[in-house]
Amino acid sequence: MISWPQIHQPDIEVKLKPLILNDSKQGMVQVRNSRFFSMYVCGITPYDATHLGHAATYIAFDLINRYLKLEHTSVHFVENITDIDDPLFERASRDSIDWKTLAQSQISLFTEDMCALKILPPDDFVRVTDSINLVIEFIKMLQRKGYVYEISGDFYFASSDFLSDLPIPQAEAVEIFAQRGGDPPREGKDHPLDPVLWLKNKDQEPGWESPFGFGRPGWHVECTAIALDFLDRNEEDYVIDLQGGGNDLLFPHHFMSAQLIKAATGRDFAKFYIHTGLVGYEGEKMSKSKGNLEFVSRLIKQGVDPVVIRWALIRDHYQSYREWNVGLLQNSVSEVDLIRKALAKSEVCPVDELIEEIISALSNNLQTQVVTDLIIAWARNSLAGDDSTSFKNDSGKLSRALDSLLGLVF
Ligand code: ZN
Repeated sequence: MISWPQIHQPDIEVKLKPLILNDSKQGMVQVRNSRFFSMYVCGITPYDATHLGHAATYIAFDLINRYLKLEHTSVHFVENITDIDDPLFERASRDSIDWKTLAQSQISLFTEDMCALKILPPDDFVRVTDSINLVIEFIKMLQRKGYVYEISGDFYFASSDFLSDLPIPQAEAVEIFAQRGGDPPREGKDHPLDPVLWLKNKDQEPGWESPFGFGRPGWHVECTAIALDFLDRNEEDYVIDLQGGGNDLLFPHHFMSAQLIKAATGRDFAKFYIHTGLVGYEGEKMSKSKGNLEFVSRLIKQGVDPVVIRWALIRDHYQSYREWNVGLLQNSVSEVDLIRKALAKSEVCPVDELIEEIISALSNNLQTQVVTDLIIAWARNSLAGDDSTSFKNDSGKLSRALDSLLGLVF
């Protein structure tokens, strides 16, 4: 399975508290209740990898993965690549390049960025183009249950029975659905919020043979089919533990993929839904349409140390709206420099209590803004050297803990 090289996570002896996360439906919840944990994180559409919003999201789920692994939980982490999607085809056509070439180049860039940012690779990194059969089987399952209908060669999911827990008012949902790949006003639809499952082939678009004709899958059904196949454990009533992504996926993507699983199996998509906040740029929302995306690869090319990028992106809480700007970058460069100087000293302030406090803050919904403040305070005190009674030669212990818990290699 394509992925990126394994990243070493040092094993450290620490006492961990149960991990509590802020679930989008239930609020604060303890997320692990067995030795096995399954996690599905929605991946990129490979045409603009990897902007800082992507990076921030994958770092947040990496912190969760690292924490659970340190608890000796067996984590099964699946991430998809949406390499069949309108924006990918539109970009390829605009730039007059083959969509497969564009997708491959962006996937390579993404995996290089993930490595540089020390993100532990998924156990399964799954391309939609490698999962067409899974999608077809899943649509057939929905068809057997009577939830599929056709309009002029395109196949839709009949969602009416599953709209009772819409997270937003229906009129707003229809509006957002139209902006994010949906087609609410199409004539012949049973309900405006029905998502497409299989699209008939159009000129110059890729297509695959299927019982529904030559065509390609719709967006939401791709993740549903992949998650169900890769994470299912063949246990009755088994539900995967966590589905995650940026909070722009809450609706329609995560809502609709959950509807599809409910209709096909009667089960929920996941026990927990965890969403990350978006990253803004210089006071504006970072977006493709505004053309104000900042990329990990561009920053690295400009000479920015990847540890500085990772540090900057955990300086605020993962579920808050965060801002990327020159000031944050400059401050992060100085802070990383300060921490490096402190770690290089032969005598530093004690680290055991600091590590305990870091764990405590992480266990409480990944309070990385608290964690980073604690590390800076420790570094300042260690460099000031004004408390000679408490100095110990254990910066190596702290370095290992920061690497293992936070993926920060100074
Ligand atoms: Zn997805």
